Amino acid sequence: MVKMSILAEKPMLQFPIQDLMDYDSCYAYLLKLFHPSGLHCPCGTKLGTSQKPHKYRKNKLPCYKCSCGKVFNIFTGTIFSKIHYDCVTIVLMLRGFAQGKTTLHLSKELSISYNGLLEWRHRLQEFAFENRSIAPLVDDQVESDEVFQNAGEKGVLHPKQDDPPRKRANKKRDRHL
Ligand SMILES: [Zn+2]
Repeated sequence: MVKMSILAEKPMLQFPIQDLMDYDSCYAYLLKLFHPSGLHCPCGTKLGTSQKPHKYRKNKLPCYKCSCGKVFNIFTGTIFSKIHYDCVTIVLMLRGFAQGKTTLHLSKELSISYNGLLEWRHRLQEFAFENRSIAPLVDDQVESDEVFQNAGEKGVLHPKQDDPPRKRANKKRDRHL
């Protein structure tokens, strides 16, 4: 009999690297991600290259004041507008989600609240789902690596509701695999 310890998944090692990461590099990464053509005020005015921040948030995020009077930062008008994590933590959070790390593991690794992180995971998943492409494929043929199965969604219903799949399978004879 196989021992459960062999079957059990190995716990992933926690390896905090926040202190080794450069805040400015993470800020620059997020700036490019959200504003590939450069940071600008919601009114459309582009941020001047020599403009100094108007203030900093507690999480060190620089905020700029536009001539129109609005104060904005790289997350203004985005899904991260209310986030309180610093840029290093945000980059590591996105990396962790993309790598499929569990919320519990990631919350310990980043030393942040499990519930807060779980909320962000759900918010981002919801955002990704709402913004998914629903455009039909351009051709009639679909290769297996082009198929993206949506978890939890059922396929097209069988036309005969009184003929469930199990019953149909049992009717088949001489089925050799
Ligand atoms: Zn403005």
